[in-house]
Amino acid sequence: MKHLVLLLLAAVLSAAHAWASTCETGRQQSPIDITAPTRQKLPPLTFDYRASPLKIADDGHTVRVRFGNGNQLYIGTQRYALQQFHFHTPSGDRIAGEEFPMAAHLLHKSPSGQLLAVVVLFRLGAENPLLAALLPLIPARADGDHAPPGIMVDVSRLLPTSRRYYRYPGSLTSPPCTEGVDWIVLKQALELSAGQLARYRERFADNARPVQPLNQRVVMESL
Ligand SMILES: [Zn+2]
Repeated sequence: MKHLVLLLLAAVLSAAHAWASTCETGRQQSPIDITAPTRQKLPPLTFDYRASPLKIADDGHTVRVRFGNGNQLYIGTQRYALQQFHFHTPSGDRIAGEEFPMAAHLLHKSPSGQLLAVVVLFRLGAENPLLAALLPLIPARADGDHAPPGIMVDVSRLLPTSRRYYRYPGSLTSPPCTEGVDWIVLKQALELSAGQLARYRERFADNARPVQPLNQRVVMESL
């Protein structure tokens, strides 16, 4: 028994060490500051999102909204299914040094398992209608998914009108910081009100990872 406990402890410690090593020594980590992107023709983004029932949770770090199947993103002909979105404050990814007060991360997965994150940036301004609908639904406690009966969310309302974007190879932004995740940062920011930001920050303040070194990566910018 004692042996087993020690073995388990060793396994847990080595897993923790593996996380630390990718988060600390990885060369393609997210988020980044987008400073000198390369402009070129990139495949168009086609969001096929529709009003869907949702599951909402306080996962201890952010408010996470999950979906069943039915919301797709096409990049050229490649299909990615939307799995969940969540928010960070401040934004994490920056554009030319500019930090935004909030960002949404829309996480997608292709049929072959490729992970792709779409970043929607927010700046202060008018009240955001989708956030107005979501903020009152945040569960009071971090106690798993809640499925509010009769409520549908159309995630296309979480998208700016412009489909221009940056793209770079990155990672998960929390342990295990796994690399090989595609990142799409939409160039046009949405607005949220100061009151909405304050309401989110009451529950989840400063839950963004600091910007990481670009190293040898090239950031693409769509025309
Ligand atoms: Zn995130």
